[in-house]
Amino acid sequence: MSLLDEITQLRQEAIERIKKSDSLDSINEVRVKFLGRKGLLTAILKQLKDLSPDEKKEVGAAANKCRTELEQEIILATESHSGVKEASDFDPTLPGTDPQIGKVHIINQVIEQICDTFRGMGFEIARGPHIETDYYNFESLNFPPDHPARDMQDTFFVEGGRLLRTHTTPVQVRELERTDPPVKIIVPGCCYRNEAISTRHHAAFYQVDGFLIDVGVTLADLKGALVAFCKNFFGEGLKLRFRPSFFPFTEPSAEVDISCFLCTGKGCQVCKYSGWLEILGCGMIDPNVLKATGHDPDKYSGYAFGMGVERPAMLKYKITDIRTFFNNDVRFLRQF
Ligand SMILES: [Zn+2]
Repeated sequence: MSLLDEITQLRQEAIERIKKSDSLDSINEVRVKFLGRKGLLTAILKQLKDLSPDEKKEVGAAANKCRTELEQEIILATESHSGVKEASDFDPTLPGTDPQIGKVHIINQVIEQICDTFRGMGFEIARGPHIETDYYNFESLNFPPDHPARDMQDTFFVEGGRLLRTHTTPVQVRELERTDPPVKIIVPGCCYRNEAISTRHHAAFYQVDGFLIDVGVTLADLKGALVAFCKNFFGEGLKLRFRPSFFPFTEPSAEVDISCFLCTGKGCQVCKYSGWLEILGCGMIDPNVLKATGHDPDKYSGYAFGMGVERPAMLKYKITDIRTFFNNDVRFLRQF
């Protein structure tokens, strides 16, 4: 068989196989077999050197024409195959993919709600460092070294004797060093304690701290502000109860309970059948704190309060496990 006949036969065979190809893979196999570097057409071209110049010209031209034609066929087959594949995957009856719209994290939403209420009463927002010195976190707030009150706020220590703040109250001291009364400040932020993580406790949690210092501030002012806040946040019609308590930086100190809004005070699992829910701690700022920041306790007085963010959020939205706030499961977070 002459080389020209071989080319004709090869061309026919290749075209038939391209037509029969049912996938991109099988088209590629044909390309490799006929046009590849070790393919059949290349093998024919290698024999050109044994031919006379005239024959070389004729066979060479036929081989090139065959190559161009087959390449064209392969391109067409590849295109139609990709097209068929796309068409079979496309189902116009399926719903489209919605872009996922992000939203504010539930904890930040609750912080915003709390701050908003106090902003309405004229408080300003302040923030401070998460890594604090012992002085700002404890000493200036009237926790003497080795005082047992420090055990209530065990924390994580970092290099240089500094620590992760156990409350947002240090910002109170930082602000009082910076400005003179009258001050009305609210401090939202993350705090840290060396706690065993459970459904009710986490080693990192959020707090909102607030304080007001002016001439002639009394416990009645504190009570008024907290009653206004609780009614705004949890709803009208609830009762408040002040229980004596202890914090090193306030004197007198109190814990504030609200009547359980889930059972309206009748008693349920959430309020442990007491009818009351513990919400925040507060008190009149200890004169030692004022002294430590260079203000005259005989001239000024003030109140301070601090509340967790997770607990009121859990109560308000009936969330049973504090860990769900920080697991970053969008199925949970998307609900709020
Ligand atoms: Zn209850």
